[in-house]
Amino acid sequence: MASCRRLSGSCLREVLGEAQGVLFDCDGVLWTGERAVPGAPELLERLSRNGKATLFVSNNSRRSVAELERRFSRLGFRGVRGDQVFSSALCSALYLRRRLLGGEAGAGDSSASPPGRVFVLGGEGLRGELRDAGLPLAGDGEEGGEEPPPPGQETLPVRAVVVGYDDQFTFAKLSEACAYLRDPQCLLVATDPDPWHPLSNGQRTPGTGSLTAAVETASGRKAVVIGKPNTYMFECIVERFGVDPSRMLMVGDRLETDILFGKNCGLDTVLTLTGVSNLEEAQAYMASDSPAAKDLVPHYYVDSIADLIPGLDE
Ligand code: PLP
Ligand code: CA
Repeated sequence: MASCRRLSGSCLREVLGEAQGVLFDCDGVLWTGERAVPGAPELLERLSRNGKATLFVSNNSRRSVAELERRFSRLGFRGVRGDQVFSSALCSALYLRRRLLGGEAGAGDSSASPPGRVFVLGGEGLRGELRDAGLPLAGDGEEGGEEPPPPGQETLPVRAVVVGYDDQFTFAKLSEACAYLRDPQCLLVATDPDPWHPLSNGQRTPGTGSLTAAVETASGRKAVVIGKPNTYMFECIVERFGVDPSRMLMVGDRLETDILFGKNCGLDTVLTLTGVSNLEEAQAYMASDSPAAKDLVPHYYVDSIADLIPGLDE
């Protein structure tokens, strides 16, 4: 049972020594806004030198993987490749490719719907991942659309609505999404359930979970949620890298998404205190009588991921 112990000293060396690799959440763990967490780039380099896999799993659907790769580099993380990065935008595209085009991504599923277009509540990062997966998008080629649709695809019906982070969300878009969702064959997919995100000025910005709640309420439908704490992103990781869950560590800053994700995937979990959740919240879950609360208690915690460096050889 997880006991939320500080990860240090001989316990730290043992945990890292046995690990095949580490799965990192991004925002609040590796960086906050445009600043890398001090020591984070060095930790990633040391992990690689010690032969440990480093993989990244982010609920942020705002940026494409290519943009995230550039961000790693800009913030001083050297040598991170795009194929190590699993965002909720990428994994939503993999999921929809499988469901709509019968593509090979994800666990096998024979229930592919007839081909169709995808209506997106989200920005260019998400739209780009969906296009790269070969999915025709509603709006492309129409007035104000980004790209002309390939010949023959203009008339395809809308087979899926995807809700991601959309800072241009409007009543009109909500109405349009609900009109498509009247068709029970039309899928409703949410990139992530995050309710809000902290801003550097101490304020909060609404997250995809808030927009999904509006779509669910107005349409009477329930979304398939791709991001953490659900396991789909880990299924994508296992498919690409064949990692052994019992030898992977999950490091995150949000108990309700990252730590629960780790639990749901059978990983040991580490809460880092540079982001959303604090130690008191973890301890409150540990003290709670609710069985569900136990899944939100991390195995370990650190003040910052820089505290993992002493557990590794030079
Ligand atoms: N979604 C959006 C729009 C965000 O801005 C963020 C973090 O800033 C996230 C999700 C959470 O990302 P992560 O899972 O990397 O913490
Ligand atoms: Ca985070």
